[in-house]
Amino acid sequence: MTELCGIVLHPSGHTLSPLLHEEAYRELGLDAVYRVFDVPPGGLETFVRGLQQRRIRQLSVSLPHKEDALGLAESSSEEARRIGAANTLTRTAEGLRADNTDWLGVVRTLEPFGPWRGHQAVVIGAGGAARAVVYALVKLGVQVRVVNRTRERAQRLASELGASLGDLDAPYDLLIHATPVGMDPNPEATPVPTDALRPGALVFDAVYRPLETRLLREARTRGCRTVDGLRMLVHQAREQIRIWSGISPSFDHLYRIARESL
Ligand code: NAP
Repeated sequence: MTELCGIVLHPSGHTLSPLLHEEAYRELGLDAVYRVFDVPPGGLETFVRGLQQRRIRQLSVSLPHKEDALGLAESSSEEARRIGAANTLTRTAEGLRADNTDWLGVVRTLEPFGPWRGHQAVVIGAGGAARAVVYALVKLGVQVRVVNRTRERAQRLASELGASLGDLDAPYDLLIHATPVGMDPNPEATPVPTDALRPGALVFDAVYRPLETRLLREARTRGCRTVDGLRMLVHQAREQIRIWSGISPSFDHLYRIARESL
């Protein structure tokens, strides 16, 4: 029987997820389709209740539903509970299970540039993506400082996940940006003044539209190494597919297809 998977989000806009998942199903020979479900804020519970009738195998969960998704599942991974958000709901024999694959997307993206244990990182943002980033970095043994527009939110994140509150003045080896600043349709915006970019540091932007953000362009010019957010997106999608099917698509193929579509 063809498995039904999909993504819940609002507004539905452009999402690369159908392309990534359906390409992976083709590569792996999985009999499955992937649909987009535009579910308005507050509507996830009703939608999920209808899941059993619709026989949905797995849902990717995007904004604004990631926190609600965690509370709706019968079980959840420790990572999703610590991060406080789920980006994946999977139907299992024991009921609906919530996972967070964003943090693993971060770990896999950073691995080729590591090891990172004992290094200093600055994370910009304190929303759901930043929480997954900080969780991943702490797990890798990195010393993390959080910078955010709203200081109290950064403080809460830092104390819950084992980071500290910081600024861009002290040295760092790694800078990860996890807010929507610089994303289309405002690609001229940047979250970091050029003179705060440290030559030699790795700068990773979670934003992937555009693929090379102004932050990454300026970081490159300043002599930083750079990583785009599409790598994280592809890695977290590979993990979602592994959770329900037990097998993972290759990174290179999916990354190339996604990159060409941007
Ligand atoms: P979110 O919860 O809406 O992010 C909110 C965060 O962004 C907060 O820290 C907020 O600061 C900050 N922020 C929003 N607008 C700002 C502005 N104009 N100036 C300064 N700070 C601002 O969203 P999210 O889910 O965390 O996602 C954040 C970004 O990560 C998005 O661009 C998303 O596309 C990207 N992302 C990428 C991946 C990937 O796989 N590459 C995965 C998830 C998310 P306050 O606390 O002050 O409001």
